[in-house]
Amino acid sequence: MSAQVIDGKAYAEGLRQRVAVAVGQLKATHKLTPGLAVVLVGEDPASQVYVRNKHKQTIEAGMESFEHRLPASTPEAELLALVDKLNQDPSVHGILVQLPLPAQIDANKVINSINPDKDVDGFHVVNAGRLATGQDSLVPCTPKGCVMLAKDKLGDLTGLEAVVIGRSNIVGKPVAQLLIAESCTVTIAHSKTKNLADVVRRADLVIAAVGRPEMVKGSWIKPGACVIDVGINRVEVDGKGKLVGDCDYASCAQVAGSITPVPGGVGPMTIACLLRNTLHAACALNGIAMPKL
Ligand code: NAD
Repeated sequence: MSAQVIDGKAYAEGLRQRVAVAVGQLKATHKLTPGLAVVLVGEDPASQVYVRNKHKQTIEAGMESFEHRLPASTPEAELLALVDKLNQDPSVHGILVQLPLPAQIDANKVINSINPDKDVDGFHVVNAGRLATGQDSLVPCTPKGCVMLAKDKLGDLTGLEAVVIGRSNIVGKPVAQLLIAESCTVTIAHSKTKNLADVVRRADLVIAAVGRPEMVKGSWIKPGACVIDVGINRVEVDGKGKLVGDCDYASCAQVAGSITPVPGGVGPMTIACLLRNTLHAACALNGIAMPKL
């Protein structure tokens, strides 16, 4: 294997520590404690794990964590009323409604009911628009984490050919916007892209956000490219559950210059960036400059 391994776990730990230091300063200087409210509707097992980790890491960063657990049968109007209450609550600076939501609830309606300045997931249509037009915004956490790792490894991304595989609102589209802002030449590939391997082979930077286990092969990768693997796929190997990415790590690592592992790559960056966004929201809502992290 020739690729350098990009240690997202270590980078995320460092970021969370820097956020914690900034939170301590905010408390001391401005008597302000950032507060994050997380709303979980139903009992999706993966969501329960995420919400538990978010709570733990929010507390560790010195912030207030408010958890709201609602039954799967919760009517949409009840969830909208809770979001409205959180919008009005001055101790809440960040609001995150865990996705997916049960079928009776329109996720877009709920997300767009969050005050955009408290929308720490960055999914509100106003934040998507601000990001697309280069205005200060709360940026989706996983995409932000991908770009942070790429910049940490490669430095300035200006002029690089970037290929993003996946066009979801949660990962593909926002990561493409962030890379445009970094002055990359960006191609967004998706399920209808022709000759995907040839498209990916152009890339100095590959971001794979597909949700298909080990789809991207080493033969698709330009020698020396940086590969950021967003995929989290649970597969069975010898009767045991295992997490793999969207890239075939063994073959991609033979060719790439650097690569994120799964687990331990992009995954840990998501909550670290969520905490950063909560700090950002708390500062912005109170007219305080965001500290440099
Ligand atoms: P999604 O299902 O919403 O989107 C997948 C995208 O992949 C679609 O745009 C689709 O066009 C594209 N696609 C599907 N099949 C393809 C193919 N054969 N060739 C090319 N493109 C294809 O998924 P998502 O929410 O964007 O998540 C993508 C992956 O990232 C998943 O594995 C998910 O678990 C993971 N993820 C990880 C984190 C994290 O690390 N914290 C966060 C979000 C998502």
